[in-house]
Amino acid sequence: MFIGHFAVAFAAKKAAPRVSLGTLIFAAVFLDAVWPLLVLLGVERFRIVPGYTAVNAFEFVHYPWSHSLLMTAVWSLLLALVYFGVKRDRAGALWVGIVVASHWVLDFVSHRPDLPLYPGGSARLGLSLWNSLPATFVVEGLMFGLAIAVYVRSTRAKDRSGTIAWWVLIGLLLALYLPGPWSPPPPNQQVVAWMGLALLAIFVPWGYWIDRHRQVVSARASART
Ligand SMILES: [Zn+2]
Repeated sequence: MFIGHFAVAFAAKKAAPRVSLGTLIFAAVFLDAVWPLLVLLGVERFRIVPGYTAVNAFEFVHYPWSHSLLMTAVWSLLLALVYFGVKRDRAGALWVGIVVASHWVLDFVSHRPDLPLYPGGSARLGLSLWNSLPATFVVEGLMFGLAIAVYVRSTRAKDRSGTIAWWVLIGLLLALYLPGPWSPPPPNQQVVAWMGLALLAIFVPWGYWIDRHRQVVSARASART
């Protein structure tokens, strides 16, 4: 999934209002930040096979450290602990952990059976949503739309930047996501890995920027209006 991970981050802002949107985006895509690093280091491997799924051309051959269920639990705990260590916010830390773990669940739904349970294990899991382009667009599109609705109802722009930065992010995510299935496959693995890291380097700070220009609408205030 791509925009589905962002949907979790947007919706989580309602559950964890004290956690910055930048942190929530970082948590939601964290496994996909570890993955390109390990690909570039030669630790994890994938192949580009045109037509491998209806949505993209990636065959994830070996990625137990970034994407096994066990390691996802470890990463979730680690990020939650780091967040708690820095912010001393127990509820926020819990949500950071949940959002990291949500990545595996969404990948489990969308990938072909390629997700390991633990490093070294032979079982591979995945429900193959990506085998159907319409189903992927419906599921991910609904998630994205609902999450946008939740986010704009639970936050309010403090200034023009808070409105513009948010909606430009949404537009850019859709512009990257929608043409994907019709685009030519990427030339090689390194390009994919660097692209992934570059997108994170843009979207995580962007999340922090949005968060500084929007404020959380309290439940009581929104009930009155
Ligand atoms: Zn992933």
